Amino acid sequence: MGAKHRLPKNQGFATRTLHAGEGAPRPDFTPTVSPLYRSVSYRYDDSQTFDDVLYGERPGYVYLRYGTPTHTALQTALAELEGAGCGLAVASGMAAVQLALLAAGAGKEGPVLCAHDVYGATFTTVTHLYPKLGIPTATVDITDLEAVGRALGDLKPAVIFCETISNPLMKVSDVPAVVDMAHSVGARVVVDNTFTTPYLFRPMEAGADYVIHSTTKYISGHGDVLGGAVLARAEEDFEKLFEAHIQLGGVMGPDEAWLTMRGLKTLPLRMERQCRNALQLAAWLAEQPQVARVCFPGLPDDPFHATAVAQYRRGCFGAMLSFDLSDGSKEKAYRFLDALKLCLPVVSLGDIYTLVCYPPTTTHQRLTPEEKAQLDIGPSLIRVSVGVEDVEDLIGDMQQALEAL
Ligand code: PLP
Repeated sequence: MGAKHRLPKNQGFATRTLHAGEGAPRPDFTPTVSPLYRSVSYRYDDSQTFDDVLYGERPGYVYLRYGTPTHTALQTALAELEGAGCGLAVASGMAAVQLALLAAGAGKEGPVLCAHDVYGATFTTVTHLYPKLGIPTATVDITDLEAVGRALGDLKPAVIFCETISNPLMKVSDVPAVVDMAHSVGARVVVDNTFTTPYLFRPMEAGADYVIHSTTKYISGHGDVLGGAVLARAEEDFEKLFEAHIQLGGVMGPDEAWLTMRGLKTLPLRMERQCRNALQLAAWLAEQPQVARVCFPGLPDDPFHATAVAQYRRGCFGAMLSFDLSDGSKEKAYRFLDALKLCLPVVSLGDIYTLVCYPPTTTHQRLTPEEKAQLDIGPSLIRVSVGVEDVEDLIGDMQQALEAL
């Protein structure tokens, strides 16, 4: 195999070292697992074919920033699972937020209306960065549909941005209602589906125009790869997205795309287990005297339980929960975190491991004390991303940490 692309024997050692083994003919077999293409550039048999690929006259790849077969595999899989027309893998969840907002018309076509309790960096983008760039914005409690209606009338936004389950208080957005209200005034809707994933909920089916993910979280699932994705419903939306993407340049690396694709394969297995563990852990926490409040839409008396039941896969409420300690303070929260032996005190979420964090000084550190108070982010709030461990071990770890208080 490969005799055809052997190099002439009379070439120098350096030349042969560079080119030996490269340029193998295109395979006529299909690997079970999509290969990892690290090559930055691609060549063709003649210049006309190269031009045709470059100008989109025929399919192919030219340069990594525009994509590789590894990216295509991941993008196709995510679009399929989200019920989207097309998708783009990007460098991080925040790159996905920026790209989707721009593609949806933020600034050029009008202001941005954003849910007020989104991920901290998304919140600061909308409330601090965009106004500095001259883009008008406002935030609203997205679960208060009357307030959303008033804000739509006052601001006349081009784009509404919300998360399916908010961070860190796990409030559930009524995405179909928000989409209907936004579309009735001509605004586009971008939904961050990181917490729910398409295993629980597909915002496109509820009419969302763009869906984004921090694929760093449940989509890749193993805490070893940073990435993001933007999914678009329509071809014309994809063109706007792609145009902005290749100019902004926040590309996902091919290794990250490959690892994300590998992690994605077990999404349903992980989510099923993590959702079940979260439900059991939340129910147990709600019974503990040292715990003042548990935020988890799976609890029957949670204010967002009915909204979650109406939208999500039966019996699944996600695997994120948060809780306040009784008579809580930062010191008490830190004592609890420091007493944990199994749950890992880190800022990410969506891994197979159970991760705990203290939102006031981590994910929401950039918020002013007034903003934290307005969002009800109390001084002893602990956020838990429930993993796939045996749930008895998680309960045991939390129990001994609560007793240590
Ligand atoms: N969206 C949500 C809901 C998140 O929780 C995060 C990060 O935690 C992001 C977006 C940003 O993702 P990344 O850290 O991959 O940029």
